[in-house]
Amino acid sequence: MSRVYNFSAGPAVLPEEVLREAADEMLDYKGTGMSVMEMSHRSKAYDTIIKEAEADLRELMNIPDNYKVLFLQGGASQQFAMIPMNLMKNKVADYIITGQWAKKAYQEACLYGKANKIASSEDKTFSYIPDCSDLPISEDADYVYICENNTIYGTKYKELPNTKGKILVSDVSSCFLSEPVDVTKYGVIYGGVQKNIGPAGVVIVIIREDLITDDVLPGTPTMLKYKTHADADSLYNTPPAYGIYICGKVFKWLKKMGGLSVMKERNEKKAKILYDFLDQSKLFKGTVEKKDRSLMNVPFVTGSEELDAKFVKEAKEAGLENLKGHRTVGGMRASIYNAMPIEGVEALVAFMKKFEEENL
Ligand SMILES: *Cc1c(COP(=O)(O)O)cnc(C)c1O
Repeated sequence: MSRVYNFSAGPAVLPEEVLREAADEMLDYKGTGMSVMEMSHRSKAYDTIIKEAEADLRELMNIPDNYKVLFLQGGASQQFAMIPMNLMKNKVADYIITGQWAKKAYQEACLYGKANKIASSEDKTFSYIPDCSDLPISEDADYVYICENNTIYGTKYKELPNTKGKILVSDVSSCFLSEPVDVTKYGVIYGGVQKNIGPAGVVIVIIREDLITDDVLPGTPTMLKYKTHADADSLYNTPPAYGIYICGKVFKWLKKMGGLSVMKERNEKKAKILYDFLDQSKLFKGTVEKKDRSLMNVPFVTGSEELDAKFVKEAKEAGLENLKGHRTVGGMRASIYNAMPIEGVEALVAFMKKFEEENL
């Protein structure tokens, strides 16, 4: 067996230890004689799995009691609709456009009410985070929406926007559990888990209790109401049971690693190795404003499409996989999520050095 260093933006690398444990439990989960995949979601064994997953997540993120944790399906993209359907009481919301995912969320919200673009970094291909200290927040806005870490462009908010008292809704898909957060600053934090937590098919929504009501837009399907899932502790219907089980294992792995402060230090250390190299390289160039650089997704270019393609190809041959940039932006992107070991980043930089010497 040989494993590569997988720099995919998502689905992405998972901790090897978690995969091994899951493999060990595949045929017989803790003496039940069956796989978690084959188990009723109403069984005692599964009840323990989902409850422990929630408890561990609450501990890791220090989630206050007045927030619900929901394990849902439909990916992050389904939240683009669920958020307006559930929260747009005045049918007005403000969106900050820092990339494709924020833009898609904005476009979806336009189906349900008046969505306002109150700031954007589209003028410079989303290579920075706009100044959000004094935005024209709409007086009747039901919420202010951000995508906190922009997976495709490699930017991250280092400071949350001043929402002037309005509820903040944040898509944290690609920075989930990468560093500590103050949950009380948000109304809703959500993310698809396939970037930094687990297998595709699970989306986690952390939502303040007072925002969960029956007062949703007319025609909202039962399955798309937060209240449906909150009332049933994420077991209204069959949840993505196996995916939640793996997420639970990753939460335990993160606790064992020392929690989110330790992960932040580790992620900073990893990202620094790559950014420091980029900053002195004569061939490779980071594409993002330094102050807004993501710790998770690092896009870079050589300036030549042919060289970029050559790099991606030769890197793959060297066991460094999925370094091709997003199909809409080109170049390269290294996603260095929690589960990417420091050795992976070191191997990437060593390879980049060698490639630079050979191709400059
Ligand atoms: C990947 C991604 C999405 C879309 O996720 P799906 O689960 O495929 O719908 C949304 N937002 C961000 C920030 C992402 O990285």
